[in-house]
Amino acid sequence: MGRPHVEKRQGLRRVIENNLFLVKFALRETPLYFFMSCLYPVINRVEVFIEHTIGIKYITDLIQFGAPFSKALTYIIWVTIFIAATFVIEGAYYQSIQLKGREKLHKNLRMLLYAKATKMGLACYDEPNYYNEFVFSLNEAANRMDKTTDYAGQFCAAVAVLFTTGAFILVFDPGGLLFVLASVVTSILVTFRINKIKFTQDLELNARIRERAYIHRVFYLPDYAKEIRLNPIASKLKNDFARTNREIDRIYKTFGKKQVLLGFIQNYFCNSFILDGLYVLYILYITMVKGAISYGSAIVLMNATWRLKANLQQLSGLIPNLQENSLYIEKLRRFLNQEPSLVAREDGLTPPEEPGVLELKNLSFAYEQSKGNVLNNISLTIKPREKVAFVGYNGAGKTTLMKLLMRLYDPSAGEILLDGKKIKDYQLEEYRGSFGTVFQDFQIFAGTVGENVTMGPVPEEKRAAVVSALVRSGFDTRLATLEHGVDTPLTREFAEEGVNLSGGEAQKLALARVFYKPCQYIILDEPSSALDPISEYNLNKIMFEAAKDKTVIFISHRLSTTRMADRIYMLEDGRIIEAGTHEELMALNGKYAEMFNLQAEKYRIAAGG
Ligand code: ADP
Repeated sequence: MGRPHVEKRQGLRRVIENNLFLVKFALRETPLYFFMSCLYPVINRVEVFIEHTIGIKYITDLIQFGAPFSKALTYIIWVTIFIAATFVIEGAYYQSIQLKGREKLHKNLRMLLYAKATKMGLACYDEPNYYNEFVFSLNEAANRMDKTTDYAGQFCAAVAVLFTTGAFILVFDPGGLLFVLASVVTSILVTFRINKIKFTQDLELNARIRERAYIHRVFYLPDYAKEIRLNPIASKLKNDFARTNREIDRIYKTFGKKQVLLGFIQNYFCNSFILDGLYVLYILYITMVKGAISYGSAIVLMNATWRLKANLQQLSGLIPNLQENSLYIEKLRRFLNQEPSLVAREDGLTPPEEPGVLELKNLSFAYEQSKGNVLNNISLTIKPREKVAFVGYNGAGKTTLMKLLMRLYDPSAGEILLDGKKIKDYQLEEYRGSFGTVFQDFQIFAGTVGENVTMGPVPEEKRAAVVSALVRSGFDTRLATLEHGVDTPLTREFAEEGVNLSGGEAQKLALARVFYKPCQYIILDEPSSALDPISEYNLNKIMFEAAKDKTVIFISHRLSTTRMADRIYMLEDGRIIEAGTHEELMALNGKYAEMFNLQAEKYRIAAGG
């Protein structure tokens, strides 16, 4: 993921608020890990201070002023005990607390995002903004969490250095602070300049990197594999790839020169010249000429000044880091704060256990208001256990109607009622749960065959039901070839021995889901499009038999299957233009009859008749 779009500069308050949002989350979910992530760097800095500042000064002073050896010995004993303790803490932190804590934190943050995502209506996916933000949040969440923890540790460490080393310099040589300040301030100014250049460079790079990433995707994703082998598109993409690389090269060259120069100024002038040159001269002067401080103090002060300077610089570097972090976290928070467009009533009604009457009243729907209605003023009633077919050409609105029935979307106007009550008044999850569905774009998940049927775990006592569902859907012949039966892993995503199914096999597997699920309504959106005519015929027969006690609503392009329906609705441009049984519609001699005859003709031609 690239850098987020900078919508507007965030004020300091917002930056702090956003970073604190994740800090609070970490404190709530994994208090020990977060606390130790802050404490460990502090202990580390204190250890360095005791050894390298206090220790060296104390020992050299003992030598210079001829103190007894026992004093040095006592000091060394205490220091070694302290260091041993820090090793114990370090071991516990790195080997256990950090590993476990980080995993748990990532997991909990992702769970929060997944939970939010499933609550949002499907309409969100039609909105590119939502989708981008969702993908973005998911991809970045763990990374941002780690960064926040890391920055909190760095901040605590910097404060510890200020309170130890800073106080030491202040006591023994306040003048030295001026050198540190001069070095830090000039260095920060140069950093600002470098950052500005990098920012402009990134802006120019971004477009090219996105283009390159796209080409990269096209070459490795299976979705494109066929087309790029069959068309000359590959050579166009290769040319584009070479061009973007040339452009990226040019950008690096242009901006690189300026950065090298500023880097030199920063490293040499702001750091070395001031602290290695001027400051060392000053220390030597006050030690050798003025005799104002001991040798030990002189050595230690030089060392401490460097450390304080590095620390202040790190602290100042933390500001842009926190700002950047804040931009990402802002997106994360915005995603978490989105209100689901589909309101789910907590105290909703429980849907009836037997199939009820589904009634559509003056139903209209638009995916986006600006683009006009996809469904127009549809009114119809589906009786319990009725077998209803929806037919019509592509784009007529059939799938959309099914999505509305299942309350994946809410209508723009009109109502859907179940047993006389608005479907909005039912418990959303339970309402959706009363549908068994196979959509055209059904998915096979990376799980076992059984899990793909139950769409969850496969309890021991349900295995027989799973197998029976697979037999009904016609998957049994394929099942017999699978070494591990219903435990066979599907897709090669996670399992080397995973099985990839053909289109028809996958469709049969998806159909087994509705045979397995104890539901009141079955919705089939062209469930047999990938099946051969014989499988399709058998399947339909079995389906109608198995679903005697259920309402079945199906969409089919092949009008031969619609003959079995109790009622057929013909859709065109989001309106119902004809309705009735197959015989009635044929007698009407309208669009349905025209479509049917056209198909029958094709079959005859195909059959050579
Ligand atoms: P059918 O199932 O009859 O082929 P659909 O219900 O899939 O028709 O589509 C009806 C119309 O709605 C089409 O014009 C289609 O392009 C449009 N459409 C479908 N899904 C979306 C969506 N998610 N966002 C915007 N338009 C959509």
